[in-house]
Amino acid sequence: MAMAPSVETLRHKLSLFMQERVYTAEEAVRNFIAQSQDRWVIPDLVEKLKAEARSAGLWNLWCPHPEYGAGLNNAQYAPLAEIMGRSLIGPEIFNCNAPDTGNMETLIAFGSEDHKETWLKPLLEGKIRSAFCMTEPDVASSDATNIRCSITRHDNGYVLNGRKWWSTGAMDPRCRILIVMGKTNPEAERHRQQSMVLVPVDTPGVSIVRPLHVFGSDDAPHGHAEITFEDVRIDADMLLLGEGRGFEIAQARLGPGRIHHCMRLIGCAQRSLEMMCKRAHVRVAFGKPLSEQGSLREDISRSACDIEQGRLLTLAAARKMDETGNKAARDLIGMAKITVPAMAQRVLDRAIQIHGAKGLSQDTFLADAWSYARTIRIADGPDQVHMDALARQLIKAHAD
Ligand SMILES: Cc1cc2nc3c(=O)[nH]c(=O)nc-3n(C[C@H](O)[C@H](O)[C@H](O)COP(=O)(O)OP(=O)(O)OC[C@H]3O[C@@H](n4cnc5c(N)ncnc54)[C@H](O)[C@@H]3O)c2cc1C
Repeated sequence: MAMAPSVETLRHKLSLFMQERVYTAEEAVRNFIAQSQDRWVIPDLVEKLKAEARSAGLWNLWCPHPEYGAGLNNAQYAPLAEIMGRSLIGPEIFNCNAPDTGNMETLIAFGSEDHKETWLKPLLEGKIRSAFCMTEPDVASSDATNIRCSITRHDNGYVLNGRKWWSTGAMDPRCRILIVMGKTNPEAERHRQQSMVLVPVDTPGVSIVRPLHVFGSDDAPHGHAEITFEDVRIDADMLLLGEGRGFEIAQARLGPGRIHHCMRLIGCAQRSLEMMCKRAHVRVAFGKPLSEQGSLREDISRSACDIEQGRLLTLAAARKMDETGNKAARDLIGMAKITVPAMAQRVLDRAIQIHGAKGLSQDTFLADAWSYARTIRIADGPDQVHMDALARQLIKAHAD
């Protein structure tokens, strides 16, 4: 399908910006983080590129609300997210990174005017960052009804007690606000026990315990934190939407966020395919370029097929979300979520193999991108949970 001219213009501008400013910055950003004494410092270069992207009009493209962002729908955003996803530092430079996009979406939909002024505005400006705290070490968190963190009514507000982990972005020195899911009423109906509240990071009783490592990497400078909440007092107006409505927010929040990861991962996979072709063409082994080996040609063509299938499925999900809403598009969102991260992991794995030892090193983006693809198969809900939900939907629709 042809793109709207404005999206085509954005696509062109974005590709150029990636080419001229982002890919060329990857090594400097990587070296800065590798060499910095303090792991949790943001390179000046990232802030500089953010300012450039913003003045170029390449800012908050994810945001479908014209009042707050670019006003693009999911299908229009998909090719742009794919381009940003080609670099692991890309999404942040355009203020389109997780989990801030999902958190901003939550604040737009459910925040009060005061929340918007205090938290949404600086998030939209890229001045602060945020984290989403649902997962807990002590319970199987793929089933969010297990969450134990308590949010108890007290005087004019609430008191929180609990332990969270894998709160992405909470190690970032710019992180100021947490969206925390906990239980306000453990006696209520199963999906009405949970609520979401806003907790400023500097509230007494909030302690960042440690960064978690992914395959040995602390993912600095954003990180994934383990956090404890001990008698943390917040005002009643920090509650989002209402008591017992945490699941409603979670459902609204995770629709677009899931598909954004798919869009970005298609970008990772596409870039790795292009790298495979270049590497195979110039690398000579046993008297001929690798590109003349049948098995490599097979890897390259299979990867192209895999990527295009994932891209079309993600676009179909995006279109259905635009046309019928997130809820009705659950089947296609689920299919994309089940297949695209695994596809990207597979394609990246082939690209690593074709690059030999270099593919595993810090000299290409392949190893980090592979790790990203692998983690998404758990981080946004394990594959099996999406398969279970999709199968339930299909069986209900077709069994009778
Ligand atoms: C890099 C990264 C970033 C993350 N970022 C965040 C964040 O910002 N905020 C946040 O709150 N959480 C975050 N998470 C946590 C993530 O959401 C949870 O890890 C995920 O929901 C699974 O929960 P769990 O780890 O408790 O696994 P468990 O619930 O213990 O599940 C373990 C395994 O059991 C299997 N399983 C579970 N249910 C089923 C089923 N129905 N059928 C078959 N098998 C099943 C699956 O294989 C699953 O992997 C992140 C995780 C990672 C790795």
